[in-house]
Amino acid sequence: DTKKITLLGLGAMGTAIARTWLAAGYDLTVWNRTASRAEPLAAEGATVAASAAEAVAASPLVVVCLLDDASVGEALATADLTGKDLVNITTGTPEEARGRAAWAARRGASYLDGGIMAVPPMIGVPESGAYVFYSGSGALYETHREALAVPAATRYTGEDPGSASLHDVALLSAMTGLFAGISHAFALMRDTDVPPTRFAAPLVEFLTGMTGYAHGAAAQLEAGDYTLGVTSNLAMMVQANGTLLRTAEDQGVSAELIAPFMALMERRLAEGGGAEGTTGVIDLLKR
Ligand code: NDP
Repeated sequence: DTKKITLLGLGAMGTAIARTWLAAGYDLTVWNRTASRAEPLAAEGATVAASAAEAVAASPLVVVCLLDDASVGEALATADLTGKDLVNITTGTPEEARGRAAWAARRGASYLDGGIMAVPPMIGVPESGAYVFYSGSGALYETHREALAVPAATRYTGEDPGSASLHDVALLSAMTGLFAGISHAFALMRDTDVPPTRFAAPLVEFLTGMTGYAHGAAAQLEAGDYTLGVTSNLAMMVQANGTLLRTAEDQGVSAELIAPFMALMERRLAEGGGAEGTTGVIDLLKR
């Protein structure tokens, strides 16, 4: 019965997800370690199980949205997973996802891992752009595609159970660099007569225009030619780094957020990459 779902974990994310299934008419059984968090959902039509094992027994599809990988193992320790379709949307590393998939297989369950690319208020709001990366059992994904697409759009990335998590982490890692750059830019502009709200406009416009860099780097990586389509070469960019660092110094701003990337650019230049863009830095990172 594809209309029956069990959900373990009613934190901020689990609760938001549960509500979308209830609103869509699914027969939802829920469990949460702290039982009181299930009360509002019971009032909205969910069946509340007394234990995780009882919740698992209620439906063929079992979705887990807990704190971390360790809490998943703990919550499911005594549950009978034989024949279950287990979907784990708890955030973890790719290695944890692969380990959990092998663990599920030993216990007779099919396994799909997920990485949620949204915050709770985006769940159930298609215009928000929320989606979940899924990887692992393609058969499980196809069977439950419709139910999985209710809280947020779905993107299947392949049979390797670690793939969804790797996509998730790669995007969040890129975001970390973006936030670092934005933080440095605001620090430079601080104590000037330009209010941050006015500087934000050109900042967003410029960064949005620069995102095409990813397509250029991708084409170079695939061609194995890091000079392909280069308009600003590394020799010139390393020269420009000097201006960036001296300006930070003059404005009394620490360069600690941008200096590590610049150091890698210099290393690549020293190794003879002057005609390339910055794609060669990727080679230096790979251990
Ligand atoms: P919360 O902190 O709100 O909820 C955590 C949940 O995990 C609670 O249900 C908690 O139960 C349960 N839990 C923790 N430890 C255990 C344990 N040992 N055994 C059983 N249950 C346990 O987190 P969220 O709901 O926000 O997040 C859930 C998952 O979704 C996380 O992996 C998170 O990384 C991911 N996610 C969250 C996003 C967000 O913006 N919130 C965005 C993208 C992904 P109890 O109520 O008893 O404490």
